[in-house]
Amino acid sequence: MQDDIFGILEEESRIAEKIRHLRAEIKRHNRLYYQQTEPEISDYDYDQMVKELEKLEAAYPQYKESASPTVKVSSDITGERKVIEHKQRMYSLDNAYSLEEVQSFLGKIALDTGSFPQVVLEHKLDGFSINLYYKGGRLQYATTRGDGYAGEDVTANVRTISDIPAEIKYQGEIEVRGEIYFPLAEFARLNAEREEAGENLFANPRNAAAGTIKLKDIDIVAKRKLKGYMYSVGLFDVSEVKSQSELLVFLAEQGFCVNTSSKVAESMAEISSYCEFWDTARYDLPFEIDGIVLKVNDFGLQQELGNTAKSPKWAIAYKFKAEEKETILEAVDFQVGRTGAVTPRAVLKAVHLAGTTVTHATLHNADELERLDIHLGDTVKVIKSGEIIPKITGVDINKRPEDAKKVVFPAKCPVCGTELHRAADGSIYYCNNIDCPAQVHRRLTHFASRAAVDIDGLGETLIQQFIDQGLISRIEDIYELDYDKVLALERQAAKSVANLRRSIEQSKQQKFSKVLFGFGIRYVGDKIAKILAEHFEDIDRLREAKLEELVEIEEIGEKIGQSVVDFFANSTNQEMIAALKKAGVNLKSVKAVSGDRLAGKTFLVTGSLTGYTREEIKEKIESEGGKVISAVSKNLDYLLAGEKPGSKLGKAEKLGSVQIIDEKEFEEMLK
Ligand code: AMP
Ligand code: ZN
Repeated sequence: MQDDIFGILEEESRIAEKIRHLRAEIKRHNRLYYQQTEPEISDYDYDQMVKELEKLEAAYPQYKESASPTVKVSSDITGERKVIEHKQRMYSLDNAYSLEEVQSFLGKIALDTGSFPQVVLEHKLDGFSINLYYKGGRLQYATTRGDGYAGEDVTANVRTISDIPAEIKYQGEIEVRGEIYFPLAEFARLNAEREEAGENLFANPRNAAAGTIKLKDIDIVAKRKLKGYMYSVGLFDVSEVKSQSELLVFLAEQGFCVNTSSKVAESMAEISSYCEFWDTARYDLPFEIDGIVLKVNDFGLQQELGNTAKSPKWAIAYKFKAEEKETILEAVDFQVGRTGAVTPRAVLKAVHLAGTTVTHATLHNADELERLDIHLGDTVKVIKSGEIIPKITGVDINKRPEDAKKVVFPAKCPVCGTELHRAADGSIYYCNNIDCPAQVHRRLTHFASRAAVDIDGLGETLIQQFIDQGLISRIEDIYELDYDKVLALERQAAKSVANLRRSIEQSKQQKFSKVLFGFGIRYVGDKIAKILAEHFEDIDRLREAKLEELVEIEEIGEKIGQSVVDFFANSTNQEMIAALKKAGVNLKSVKAVSGDRLAGKTFLVTGSLTGYTREEIKEKIESEGGKVISAVSKNLDYLLAGEKPGSKLGKAEKLGSVQIIDEKEFEEMLK
């Protein structure tokens, strides 16, 4: 009896722990997805996690919580932009993963109201939701969904999208809502361009759309041809429009792009056949959809049904399953990246999947190989769920050939034979031989790529040729190229050699952040490189930075910090830096100065400002010759205090020597 009770208690605490863990993980992935737009896992894996949490919460209602990600709208607010409150809330959608779930959802409504509701069926676009506020017929601002109550101001970016009219006929106040998305062709073009430039690829069009909407540089936004379909309203006062289907007509009349595939349905049979049709026909669309949204058509009935804290009770999203196919695993490659990370990649018998032919799939790392227990010749299940690189979800052991060999992670680098080391923080194995030919090639290609120092004409093939001929083996060798030998190489015409020489010369003037990115320091991508270059201003200050100093920077954690310290402690890297300096490569940040009204003055910002993000205010101060410092001290001239100032305000007041100003007074200083 006692045992039973303990058993139950133990089981309960195990479940509570599981729920806590799932919530924390989902929240972390929400942040990666909505705020950083750099998801770590596929939409499929994410949905699996949410489904599991929903199931547990339904079975153990005692653990329900209003802060659970199943109840709260995930926020996309990054704090980098002005936030504007929505006039009407923006909701998320509840999901149904099968037609049975759809049926039971509608069945409940039928039971409550006495008849099967008329519904509108629409594509669930896989993009980024947007809120457009018009007044007097003009677009006033555009915001993201944010946390559902308020969103970030992305007006300038949205104005570049040709599908979004700057003016509409309707003169009253109105919030129009819909989805911004990347057409597939445009997405493919963008990723091809990024690949060539050596930049990180976007995982999927949704991600690319979200990343683009949040960019600071509107010229880049304008170049990416985003599109937008509108399908909903927030604040709205047009009494003639009484249903979703009428609303779609109204929005089209106003000049918005409205998806023409929507359909009014009156029965479950119609709904099923629409959903099944689009489950396969979706691969022929020029954009990605991940499901079908069902909305009760009548606005009166919608209002009667109301909303939960997160979603309307009159709508549901039927999510498609990721298409899964079986194929044969023919081989596993082990690829060595520029940082020495070794990643396994499955070579598959070609299979047609989700609209494309698939021949490779990622296997992530050694743990994944173990988990799947993969053997050569295995029949494997593959899915493509919004990601570019397909994923193996399982192995059919019954179909395994008798003599199949288990795939083992190599103990030595497949290229140079150096023993591999597992990094302390995870499941990745590295070849730590800095002269490993695979790494040398990748490292040099990366350094020369467009996102780094951008040496036009020095591509993968030529670099390989130079390495093979013994002309270069290190980054600094690029600046000591023996052009006579280059000329002597077969097919090298004098003109192209001269061009190459010119682009190598030009690369010396490249921005410090790009040179730094080019070094290929582990975990230092283009964003972190920018942050480091801005913070430390030149290579010597960065080189001398201690770990403690590095981790004080907001975006830099222990892992990145340690990697930077290790990089500069390495003597080969020190030699490289000395050689680059000697060659005249730019290793300093140059600030654009447009005035000197704040020359010699130091500033510190606390609290939130209404007109500037932190980055913008810093730029503004520096462009006028001022300097932003990070702590209150005798050297501080001005403390610029916004709303909800932090403890710095108290410190500055105590010191007495600091002038405390608000945003208005700051702007006065610039007049
Ligand atoms: P979720 O992102 O899972 O919360 O799903 C809800 C989101 O689906 C909404 O916020 C919209 O951005 C998006 N969505 C895409 N297509 C539609 C549509 N036709 N109707 C309503 N929402 C849609
Ligand atoms: Zn190696």
